Amino acid sequence: MKKFIKGLAVIAAASLMAVMATACGGDTQKPGNSDSFNASNTANYNLVTGGKLIMGTNAEFPPFEYKEGGSVVGVDAGVMELVAKKLGLTLEIKDMTFDSLPEALAGKNIDVIAAGFTIKPEREEKMDFTDTYYTAKQTVILKSDSPYNSIEEMKDKNLKIGVQTGTTGMNDAAPVVTGEDNIVGYNNGSLAVEALLSGKVDAVIIDNNPAKEYKDQHGDDVKLLEDQFEEEEYAIAVRKGNKELQDAINKALKEIKEDGSFQKVVEQYVK
Ligand code: GLN
Repeated sequence: MKKFIKGLAVIAAASLMAVMATACGGDTQKPGNSDSFNASNTANYNLVTGGKLIMGTNAEFPPFEYKEGGSVVGVDAGVMELVAKKLGLTLEIKDMTFDSLPEALAGKNIDVIAAGFTIKPEREEKMDFTDTYYTAKQTVILKSDSPYNSIEEMKDKNLKIGVQTGTTGMNDAAPVVTGEDNIVGYNNGSLAVEALLSGKVDAVIIDNNPAKEYKDQHGDDVKLLEDQFEEEEYAIAVRKGNKELQDAINKALKEIKEDGSFQKVVEQYVK
């Protein structure tokens, strides 16, 4: 027991030294000014690469992330740009398939997932989430001539449902279909909607904002069933245990919500 306590004291002393070393490391940061974000703090965030905040996303999810003239834009890119600035970091965006994001985070290819990413208990086992920043709901996209007006009516009809692989939409499709084989996964929502239009699937289940974008693109060819599922909350995911980055992002999110810049980004992209 005594040995254990002594061990703890050594660890405590070592951590104190580490904290002091970091606190004194920057040349611009004043001691005691713990409120300000500063590039000299970045060693504390457990980043993949010092000075850079690497965001993983799937840039096929308008209006949260999509490509425009070679760069990734949208709510998440805009919000993370503001967050990175608050943290004194340069934002880098890595575009990949949605279902590869959790592995990329755990394997230290990225620092955060910002992808209209819903908090779910299964995900919370593998990663930590920041405070929430957007409320969404899964929406059903049907061809306009489809006879269905609710998911209740769609049950037991042996319908095929297209989803984006690994999403909450995929989970929500389960109780609607007769068997797992009737859920068809696609790499992105736009491919799922193409499959709907060409008759390969009978419906698509995807988040409400992308669903509205697809409705805008395809006009009278498709219709939406809204308010069929529970609300879900988007948050930024960090690696399990990376409390420093989680806290720093929460602080930045709070600040950009308070100063109105967060809302501006949302209004820029969400119609
Ligand atoms: N919100 C959904 C999820 O987290 C879909 C996100 C996405 O496709 N980018 O599973």
